[in-house]
Amino acid sequence: MGPTLFHEIIYGPVKSRRLGNSLGINIIPTNEKVCSFDCIYCECGWTEGFTSNNFINSETFRNILEIHLENLKKNSIELDSITFSGNGESTLHPEFLSITKETISLRDKYFPHAKVTVLTNGSMLHIPQVQEALALIDQPMLKLDSAIQQEFDIINQPMYKVDIKTIIDNYTKLSLPNKIIQTLLLRGKHNGIEIDNTRKESLDALITAINKINPQLWMLYSIDRPTPEQNLVKLTLRELQQIKNDLQDKVNCEINVYA
Ligand code: SF4
Repeated sequence: MGPTLFHEIIYGPVKSRRLGNSLGINIIPTNEKVCSFDCIYCECGWTEGFTSNNFINSETFRNILEIHLENLKKNSIELDSITFSGNGESTLHPEFLSITKETISLRDKYFPHAKVTVLTNGSMLHIPQVQEALALIDQPMLKLDSAIQQEFDIINQPMYKVDIKTIIDNYTKLSLPNKIIQTLLLRGKHNGIEIDNTRKESLDALITAINKINPQLWMLYSIDRPTPEQNLVKLTLRELQQIKNDLQDKVNCEINVYA
């Protein structure tokens, strides 16, 4: 089976490697992928566009989420995380801040111990409302697969010119004690070009960026689901652990690995 879209606004809960029992929140339209990047490993397939006229409005979203949380509570299902993920980049939603606030207030009402998590590629961090929303979120997970422009362009394929230095600067400026950087490590080939962000040069650049950004945690993980580019290799847990052992003393935060 190839990569697939999420056809629901709320999905799961699913057992996640990194988040435990996680309820997925997809505020991207359910029939299209909307992202500012076109990562070669994206579980939703190739990107169709970076804007849409079909975003759900915040009031409808609140009603749908409340029904789901009520049902889960009634059925005594526990949640570790309520997670913004889905068919693209959640921070592209024009009402991301009010949706974040609604989600937090419903979490407080139904599952006060669950964390609210967002997986983001950081491309919208220049927008004050996105910064404000991330400051409210328990686990802001910020994507950084490469700190080298040429490698970033090949792995993450931004839909328009994005300077990876600007993203790193914006992550650095985000003065939150709970910042998490997430890095997908992979090897393979795309359009005839070799990719390997486990090379010394790639890891050295990432170490410099991590020490500048100063996150609470650095997550290293491998491919988990079908990818649009077929010529990619999934790293083993053993390889990730070896990389962690080599890097741990060189960065000022904890490293966790997930395969
Ligand atoms: S940033 Fe996330 S949603 Fe966008 S293409 Fe990359 S993996 Fe997919």
